[in-house]
Amino acid sequence: MKWENKRYRSFSYEMKKIFESKIIKLSLDGGFTCPNRDGSIARRGCIFCGEEGAGEFAASRDLTIKEQINSQKEWMSKKWGNGKYISFFQNFTNTYSTYEDLKNKYNQAISEKDIVGLAIATRPDCLSKDVLDLLEEINKKTFLWVELGLQTIHDDSSDFIRRGYELECYDRAIKELDKRDIKVVSHLIFGLPGETREDILSSVSYVARTNTWGIKIHSLYIQEATDLADYYIKSPFKLLTKEEYVSLVADSIEILPQHMVIHRLTGDGKRSLLIEPKWSLGKRRVLSAIDQELKARDSYQGIKTPTGI
Ligand code: SF4
Repeated sequence: MKWENKRYRSFSYEMKKIFESKIIKLSLDGGFTCPNRDGSIARRGCIFCGEEGAGEFAASRDLTIKEQINSQKEWMSKKWGNGKYISFFQNFTNTYSTYEDLKNKYNQAISEKDIVGLAIATRPDCLSKDVLDLLEEINKKTFLWVELGLQTIHDDSSDFIRRGYELECYDRAIKELDKRDIKVVSHLIFGLPGETREDILSSVSYVARTNTWGIKIHSLYIQEATDLADYYIKSPFKLLTKEEYVSLVADSIEILPQHMVIHRLTGDGKRSLLIEPKWSLGKRRVLSAIDQELKARDSYQGIKTPTGI
């Protein structure tokens, strides 16, 4: 196959091609919060967001960035062996601070040995001109990408998840980042209540048309200690089955242009907090079912990319 053993351009394939080495992400906690939680936009955050944000696997925010890098390197090398590293500010909104604080933390995150890149997860409404200029500067020093949690293009769903920004805001952010040659990874969630198969695939087509560098997809999962868990207990709704999810992912891969890097196709929730769907815990089984589905269809990434993308 074009992409080694996969029928799509996986993150590990792309990293090996670029860096000629295994790439390990170090999940750092910059001590940031989020305007959707601190009252600037709202107080309860996105409906699926827990107190720990998305950073259950991140290093402790009580440590300096240098200490976090060292502890994560030690921990990750036991699991994955040696390689090169990308620092990843994953938890909460990692462009939500002063220019000086961000500059200081980003520079620390790229200055340690064997760090070859930086990934920054944020919201499209937290990219002021100063922040964009800083990202442009960092982009010249290292392999940078910015991750945006779009999740869906549909207004009813974005209201339900309390995302707190409009689709136009995402479009503007993409344009501004693109102008500065900064790579973007867009996140989508499959299985939001009320979304049909067509709704989900239209979100995928939308992201495909933005021509962002990469995409992360996962199924909606319900974790304890979130408002989504309370909602689900009071008003249970239908979650995607593994088979439905696998089929939707295969359809999505077919639509995505071949240059887009597929960073993730399964959920990343914390095992001890997961309420449903339980099948999402078997990440290897889900990935292998996706591979089998593509093989059975004799299909691959981009086979159905609409013309003009
Ligand atoms: S934007 Fe991210 S950190 Fe902020 S509330 Fe939503 S999921 Fe949580």
